[in-house]
Amino acid sequence: MARKNPNIVITGTPGVGKTTHAEQLARNLGFKHLSINQIVKDEGFHEGKDEELGSWVVDEDKLLDHLESTSLSATGGYILDWHACDLFPERWVDLVIVLRCDSTTLYDRLSARGYKGKKLEENMDSEIMQVLLDEARESYREEIVVELRSDTAEDVEENLERVEMWVEQWRRDNAGGGEGE
Ligand code: ADP
Repeated sequence: MARKNPNIVITGTPGVGKTTHAEQLARNLGFKHLSINQIVKDEGFHEGKDEELGSWVVDEDKLLDHLESTSLSATGGYILDWHACDLFPERWVDLVIVLRCDSTTLYDRLSARGYKGKKLEENMDSEIMQVLLDEARESYREEIVVELRSDTAEDVEENLERVEMWVEQWRRDNAGGGEGE
């Protein structure tokens, strides 16, 4: 089973810039951007909202069945954008990008989004404790996990360039795949 394109997970604490990166990368590369939060909400793959945190309690089985039914594992070329990453099977994933952000900047972004109280606190703690980076490192091979800064617009530009070059290289390394398998 040789994919023509890699699948990329973009993860990190809410507000670090996942959507910003995923949308632009998808456009530049002609990849499909899957906002997992949006899918969970639109398809009802949840058991309601956690009242205190205001986030969906996700039905992971339904979500994974849905993703399995796409061409993700066969063709590649998908960007999975979510604030968690450990549930995606390793065989689907070629690169995991963990976006990181300075805490003052993140505080401002989340406040501007209307986060407050416990929800704001928990997300700030999560970024400071690098929860998503640890989750990614525990779930995937070290060499496919990349930590990137997302503090400024220049960071976004640099990150996009870097990932696009990585995709080019991946395509060269995997060109003509299939034979011998
Ligand atoms: P996420 O998808 O991780 O929740 P978003 O991409 O929605 O984050 O970004 C949250 C807010 O922060 C948006 O207003 C976005 O424009 C801004 N933002 C994200 N990354 C950067 C960055 N590197 N530089 C400047 N602003 C950014």
